[in-house]
Amino acid sequence: MAGRNHKSRLISNLTTILSSPIEYLKGVGPLRADMLKKELNIFTFGDLLNHFPLRHIDKTKVSAIKEINAFTDFIQVAGKLTHYEIIGAGRSRRLMAQLKDSTGVLELTWFQGISWVEKGLHIGSDYLVFGKTGFFNSKAQMVHPEIEVFVPAKAGAKAFLEPVYPSTEKLKARGLNGRQLAKLTYVLMGLLQPKDLPENIPEHIIKELKLLSRYEAFAIIHFPTSEHLYNKALERLKFEELFIAQVRLQLVRLQRNNASKGVLFEKVGSYFNDFYNKYLPFTLTGAQKRVLKEIRNDTARGRQMNRLLQGDVGSGKTMVALLSMLLAADNGYQSCLMAPTEILAQQHYYGLKDLLKAMPLEIALLTGSTKSAERKRILKGLIEDSIHFVVGTHAVIEEVVQFKNLGLVIVDEQHRFGVAQRARLWEKAKLPPHVLVMTATPIPRTLAMTAYGDLEYSVMDELPPGRIPITTVQRNEMARANVMGFVKEEIDKGRQVYFIYPLIEESEKLSFEDLMQGYEQVKSFFPEPNYKISMLHGRQPTDQKETNMQRFVKGDTQIMVSTTVIEVGVNVPNASVMVVESAEKFGLSQLHQLRGRVGRGTEKSFCILLTGSRASKEAKERINIMCATNDGFKIAEKDLEMRGPGDIEGTRQSGALNFKLASIVNDKALLEMAKEKAELLVEKDLYLEAEANQPLRHFMQSQKMTHGWSKIS
Ligand code: ADP
Ligand code: MG
Repeated sequence: MAGRNHKSRLISNLTTILSSPIEYLKGVGPLRADMLKKELNIFTFGDLLNHFPLRHIDKTKVSAIKEINAFTDFIQVAGKLTHYEIIGAGRSRRLMAQLKDSTGVLELTWFQGISWVEKGLHIGSDYLVFGKTGFFNSKAQMVHPEIEVFVPAKAGAKAFLEPVYPSTEKLKARGLNGRQLAKLTYVLMGLLQPKDLPENIPEHIIKELKLLSRYEAFAIIHFPTSEHLYNKALERLKFEELFIAQVRLQLVRLQRNNASKGVLFEKVGSYFNDFYNKYLPFTLTGAQKRVLKEIRNDTARGRQMNRLLQGDVGSGKTMVALLSMLLAADNGYQSCLMAPTEILAQQHYYGLKDLLKAMPLEIALLTGSTKSAERKRILKGLIEDSIHFVVGTHAVIEEVVQFKNLGLVIVDEQHRFGVAQRARLWEKAKLPPHVLVMTATPIPRTLAMTAYGDLEYSVMDELPPGRIPITTVQRNEMARANVMGFVKEEIDKGRQVYFIYPLIEESEKLSFEDLMQGYEQVKSFFPEPNYKISMLHGRQPTDQKETNMQRFVKGDTQIMVSTTVIEVGVNVPNASVMVVESAEKFGLSQLHQLRGRVGRGTEKSFCILLTGSRASKEAKERINIMCATNDGFKIAEKDLEMRGPGDIEGTRQSGALNFKLASIVNDKALLEMAKEKAELLVEKDLYLEAEANQPLRHFMQSQKMTHGWSKIS
């Protein structure tokens, strides 16, 4: 569990009182301490302080039982206990009680901690009960309510917002429900003074943004006296989380910029110029030119480039990669271009080879299936510097390849290429090579700022001219015959078509059968010899994959039946129709990637999403979004909203997103502000030496670092 670490990270100023073991808090003791550690990762006073309430309830507000209806969520009622009994055995053993007020009866049920609860129940006494209501056999009931002896509020008592903390069934069974946790936190707050929670955000920022002090914020977030103040406390603590994270990222980025030595690409030479003037098959888009300029600037400073290039599918990233590699060659350096799949590596290799056929440059392909003699030749060529460019799958290049003079590493379609992987590449060269990470998975700005905030980033938001927007429609499986009719018309016009089938790893066998059935079905609509079909899936041997792909690329086959192995990168401009089978089974960004395989040429393209009738609400929403827009950045935003950052692959372990309170989906404005302030601060004071930044520095030093932030280059 990462919880333990990131919890104590936020507290950080490890003054003695906050690091005191939780068993020393009045009311805890060794037994409860054990439970708190096991169940909630609360080891110290500080951990408890950072266990934030889920919500607050107004303790003076007691509802009538008859108010409970199907829409009631959490409610507090008071009444007399009229009856209780323990019934059932084994798993269905439960304690049932009845609470009666002047308006009705509420049934209370416990499945766990029965003997503990029973001890506290006395028929005829009045109780205050809080919990989530439901209906069972059309009777209002509450399962595992929080219950305590009812003490009528004193006349004129002020509204009191009591915090409700997340707890667990086990803790509740030991009498540590949300309310008991509130009592402990109350005791703890009583022990703390402002000096125990010193400020960590520089004074002028606190003033400018009118933030509560750290001490105030902690006191109020637990025990607010008004909603307004609660929101202020929340704002302050969220800002703190985001700001500290941004300062950390900016320190990494700017210190690296300042200190790192990198390969120097000082000139644009004849490789670049010859290619540009004689062989470039089209005019670059404005976005391509801009990004090239950024790369050129980055690499001409004698410092290492770490750049993330986001370009929507089809925006022409490959050409940017090639021109950068030519720049490296002009300066006497080797380049490698790494792809996530063998198919993509091959495609890049053949593509580059074709573009460079008239140039005096050696280029090699290295993947898992490269034969051993060829492999030997390539490894030798790279160490001797007779090969200029190597294209391959990353696993292979990372593991075995040694270079004489590596200057540039380009990672295609892999923004998940992590810090550790980047570090491994440095070992391949005396000076760290420049790194360009390219992705067609648009990353929402907030995610880019947090998960990838240590990289510079470029965005290619322009498609080559002449592209006609893809039309995307959803069709029910029942309409398959119609869809096939349409596909036939397109093929007869000379177009090529993809049929995509989901391949879900866990049930690979089943999906494989689906694919085979699908193939037979497609074949029955498109019989030989008029129609020719390629098929591609993960189980084929490499050379078979390659042959099938190449036949489709060359136009020998009009139809490609495939799983998502073609998801990224594949480029066949004449293919203008994609039919996605069981589209409800795909995620948003995956559908966008797949769709990116069409619309790459000058013909009008279509994407047809076939769905069964049992698609979930979310699946329908995904499909509606796909039909509504072609804009990868909009789709990425939606994806982030629908799934939350925790689910975006590859970001889970990044540490940058482990916020306790802040959310990059809901707190965008606060994140922008935090970034702006952090950047300004670090630019002015790169090593946090200024007097005003000492509290911040001290705070950050005391934070436990769970990741090697400083080891990026
Ligand atoms: P992606 O960014 O998805 O990797 P590619 O690099 O595969 O895109 O390019 C998509 C297609 O657009 C290719 O066929 C490529 O040759 C073409 N292309 C790239 N840049 C331009 C341009 N400036 N003008 C016209 N076509 C271009
Ligand atoms: Mg590409």
